[in-house]
Amino acid sequence: MTCSPVWHPFTQHALEPVMKRIAKTEGAYLVDEDGAAILDAISSWWVITHGHRHPVIMDAIRRACETYDQVIFAEYTHEPAEELARGLIEVAPAGLKHVFYSDSGSTAVEVALKMALGFFHNTQKPRSRIVVMEHSYHGDTIGTMSVGERGVFNAAYEPLLFEVDRLPFPTIGEEQATLDAFEDACRSGEVAALLIEPLILGAGGMKIYRASLLTELKRIAERYGALMIADEVMTGWGRTGSLFACEQAHVTPDILCTSKGLTGGALPLAATICSREIFDAHLSSDRRKTFFHSSSYTANPIACAAAVANLKIWKTNPVGERIAKLAERQSKGLSRFEGDPRFDNIRQIGTIAALDLVVPEGGYLSEVGPPLRAFFRKRRLLIRPLGNVIYLMPPYCITADDLGRSYDAIGEAAGLLAAGRL
Ligand SMILES: *Cc1c(COP(=O)(O)O)cnc(C)c1O
Repeated sequence: MTCSPVWHPFTQHALEPVMKRIAKTEGAYLVDEDGAAILDAISSWWVITHGHRHPVIMDAIRRACETYDQVIFAEYTHEPAEELARGLIEVAPAGLKHVFYSDSGSTAVEVALKMALGFFHNTQKPRSRIVVMEHSYHGDTIGTMSVGERGVFNAAYEPLLFEVDRLPFPTIGEEQATLDAFEDACRSGEVAALLIEPLILGAGGMKIYRASLLTELKRIAERYGALMIADEVMTGWGRTGSLFACEQAHVTPDILCTSKGLTGGALPLAATICSREIFDAHLSSDRRKTFFHSSSYTANPIACAAAVANLKIWKTNPVGERIAKLAERQSKGLSRFEGDPRFDNIRQIGTIAALDLVVPEGGYLSEVGPPLRAFFRKRRLLIRPLGNVIYLMPPYCITADDLGRSYDAIGEAAGLLAAGRL
């Protein structure tokens, strides 16, 4: 066994087998050091949208490399960032007017929280309560863990996390309880923002709720002068069927966070897009009202060029049709398990399909997780269940055959589990 100094994310090295090296990526595949093609059925942690190494994005990166590396983003600007910002404003929900760049989903959310508190600090009576939904996930920094679900992931860091108000998850038919809880929280007059993953909570277990709930929550927020922050880090760029999930609820949030699919998944980049009011609250001859945030690699020109290329693909290719086709294939795939007692909560939104394996012990640390992963690995499929929740979130270029093969493997895994042979 070779001993690597690398410490991998969300990895228990004492239990994990030696990792294969990926030598190449192509379309829906990762090709390992032995030349085996592994189907990337979860888009390499939800970032790859069109497919690995899309030629338009790779060309844009290559071209950008001829003239840029990192450029300071205060005092100076550059065309890739300007062009991208204009393009983002064009495709984002109407009313979002300003773009702040950072480099990951977590930082996009941190920036959004700081914008929200800065807005109230600079304009009126400061507010600092943040309201979130049960089971939400917004990242792994101290701030974003604070606003996410508490559990095994962050138990050790609990003493450093700040308190937030939590709404019950709106299961279908029980939405009123969520709306009431939000309105109750708002009555204090201290709620700065509702931070929410629109339509589906990703890492919390692919939990889907009705679009109308989001519309109602926005109405309540407006009534009480609270902001809505939409964390579209996972849902953005077509995953739920529309470019942004908010569109399906006809909602313009006050702040929208995007990252993962922003560059088609090729390079790290994030944007926090906000309304004019939030920008204007920081606009003043009083320098204390400046938005005090930056990271060294803010608006990396090469990453921005990759994102501009992604926008171009959305404009010139039938991405919407591809997504609709994939959604249709996902529902066909799921339909094989309809009424199958080995599965529960079969669900789908747009290109994302999920189902729960019926096991005695669910949750993220469910015993079934590691053997399931090992089984899928043997089948040359990259599928990483969230505990007993199996989901497929493939790149849009996946073929019907490859998607079918993924569903075959899910059925086979359930069979082995039932027979005690997983
Ligand atoms: C992945 C994710 C994040 C964090 O993004 P990173 O780039 O991993 O920091 C935040 N919010 C949601 C909804 C996510 O799915």
